Amino acid sequence: MSAPDTLADRLAATRARIGAAAAEAGRDPAELRTIVVTKFHPASLVRELYSLGVRDVGESRHQEAQQKSDELAELDLSWHFVGQLQTNKARQALSYARVIHSVDRPSLVEALAAAEQIGRHKPVDVFLQLNLTDDPGRGGVDAAGLESLAETVVMAEGLRLLGVMAVAPLGEEPRAAFARVRAASERVRAIEPAARFISAGMSGDFREAILEGATHLRIGSAITGNRPVRP
Ligand SMILES: *Cc1c(COP(=O)(O)O)cnc(C)c1O
Repeated sequence: MSAPDTLADRLAATRARIGAAAAEAGRDPAELRTIVVTKFHPASLVRELYSLGVRDVGESRHQEAQQKSDELAELDLSWHFVGQLQTNKARQALSYARVIHSVDRPSLVEALAAAEQIGRHKPVDVFLQLNLTDDPGRGGVDAAGLESLAETVVMAEGLRLLGVMAVAPLGEEPRAAFARVRAASERVRAIEPAARFISAGMSGDFREAILEGATHLRIGSAITGNRPVRP
């Protein structure tokens, strides 16, 4: 069996694998949303994805995301911001992003809420990014800060808490890491029952994420092919 080698092939193959994982988990594939992460790829690739039916795309760097979303403004795409977001870029990110997956500190919540009040996008959907490592530099809130951050978002004007987001750390079995994400999701739901979504699962581990309840998959290279060298 040869590897699929066009964008359409890879998208179809990935969708089939997602369907198989959902079946394995006993879940309805309709409850899974796939965000195609297009970082480092040109706007032309996003346009091609659009022609293949993709509507949710993810980016991790503000400037690049802003440029691509400007270039593709006529397409009804939902842009998801999945990378670390500087507080002083929060307002600009809301000019294109419909969902911010990487909220990890109260200062960012405040910046988003303040920007939202003067912006046009409301409400803004956010995930709390969990840091599953012991390294505070990795981004994400640690377990001890999770509940209070959730409360900060719930109280903030114009923000809607969707749930939790995480990247499985290297060196840990992804399924075990995603089980911890599921437990964190339950803690957040105790505060905000509507925040039932889980953004987890990348090209190498989306099956394990689906088995642990992920609802929003962030898949890049399995669909896009290898990323070009970082511009
Ligand atoms: C790049 C990236 C992804 C997608 O990674 P792949 O391994 O290419 O699927 C998902 N989430 C985040 C936060 C990313 O930065």
